[in-house]
Amino acid sequence: MSTVTNSSLATRDLQHVWHPCTQMKDHEQQPPIPVRRAQGVWLEDFDGRRYLDAISSWWVNLFGHAHPRINSAITAQLPQFEHVMLAGFTHEPAIALAEELVRITPPGLTRCFYADSGSAAIEVALKMSFHYWQNQGQPRKRVFVTLSNSYHGETLGALAVGNVDLYKGTYAPLLMDVLTVPSPDCYGREPGESWAEHTRRKFSLMQTALERYAEDIAAVIVEPLVQCAGGMRMYDPVYLSMLRAACDRYGVHLIADEIAVGFGRTGTMFACEQARISPDFLCLSKGLTGGYLPLSVVLTKESIYEAFYAEFIAQRAFLHSHSYTGNALGCAAARATLGIFFNGPVLETNERLAAHMTQRLAPLVDHPHVSDVRQTGMIGAIEFVRDKATREPFPWQERRGQILYRHALERGVLLRPIGNVVYFMPPYVITPAEIDLMIEVAVQGIDRACA
Ligand SMILES: *Cc1c(COP(=O)(O)O)cnc(C)c1O
Repeated sequence: MSTVTNSSLATRDLQHVWHPCTQMKDHEQQPPIPVRRAQGVWLEDFDGRRYLDAISSWWVNLFGHAHPRINSAITAQLPQFEHVMLAGFTHEPAIALAEELVRITPPGLTRCFYADSGSAAIEVALKMSFHYWQNQGQPRKRVFVTLSNSYHGETLGALAVGNVDLYKGTYAPLLMDVLTVPSPDCYGREPGESWAEHTRRKFSLMQTALERYAEDIAAVIVEPLVQCAGGMRMYDPVYLSMLRAACDRYGVHLIADEIAVGFGRTGTMFACEQARISPDFLCLSKGLTGGYLPLSVVLTKESIYEAFYAEFIAQRAFLHSHSYTGNALGCAAARATLGIFFNGPVLETNERLAAHMTQRLAPLVDHPHVSDVRQTGMIGAIEFVRDKATREPFPWQERRGQILYRHALERGVLLRPIGNVVYFMPPYVITPAEIDLMIEVAVQGIDRACA
């Protein structure tokens, strides 16, 4: 009798499965790793090897894999029903989740529109903003402003407002035009300049764009505090307060994409809280279901909702739909995930874990190939370069990050560098000893990658 092994599954996989964000030919060297089970921060493959999931399975997982509370919420919902359409029908999981989200998100966000992925939530927010201005008799307002190096997903609308060339370059001819403003990303700050000073200085470029083009602008879209897919580049909350004030002044919507940074990642439940602002649209996904099921939501304000509310024949309704909108199992997983936040001192625990991470990352500042060590809450990142003094990066063709990736897997840690940035975004149930392991392996990996 043949037994199932990594290699037997990888062989079958490569017959038919086309993987995301992958040059499939790479798998000739490094076959995909089949996961047999996952528990807490650990993944286990079919050869019995374990991997510490230091990146929360692409940033979705908050409280570890196979969490008993989320497991039982889904199994409790299952015998009731799995999914019904949300047009004309409704259900308690979707209602209760909306109530809870309105309660915990920044003030003024009272309306929840569900979708099924982060990208879909971005499409919803863009269409809603545009459509709002149409309904208000301001059809000129249809331009979106985005920051350089931003990422908002990979469907065509989301890709258009993003700015990472790796994802966007090839498809650029298909995408709508947007107005791109330089990011406040603090990697580019002058020597001796603080994050806040740099961030303020960069805001003047946004100010100029808004002043000049406000009549044509529907909304500004940002990833609050951390540009994650853009290499975990970070900036000071002051940008968000200045942006909120300017959007109000110029009559432009503010879309906050907290798909990656929401739910405690940056130290507060939502990153916008650190600037004490409420956006006009708040996009959430990833951690929303604790990493269990695809679900997303766009929250918006009453005044925006009201601009769509009219007799049917007025043709003002927002007629956007996805088949799995408001999936009941997803909503049940999301409610259980929020339940974990309500049940214990999650943010306080994270603060201690983040402080531990800070302490362990500190010595890396002196590493001969490290140009920057940065952290916001439970996101840490190390940027490695060829030349520390000039910050000249290694040529991307050398794929140094791959060396680090393979080294980490050998040592039982899943790290997936973005170019020459190795980052940590672990589930909140990681222990200090596991943080030590994750960083130790990363440092060895940097040494090997830079050799
Ligand atoms: C992941 C991500 C998205 C896209 O979400 P998907 O579910 O992958 O479509 C959008 N914005 C940000 C900031 C993200 O990190």
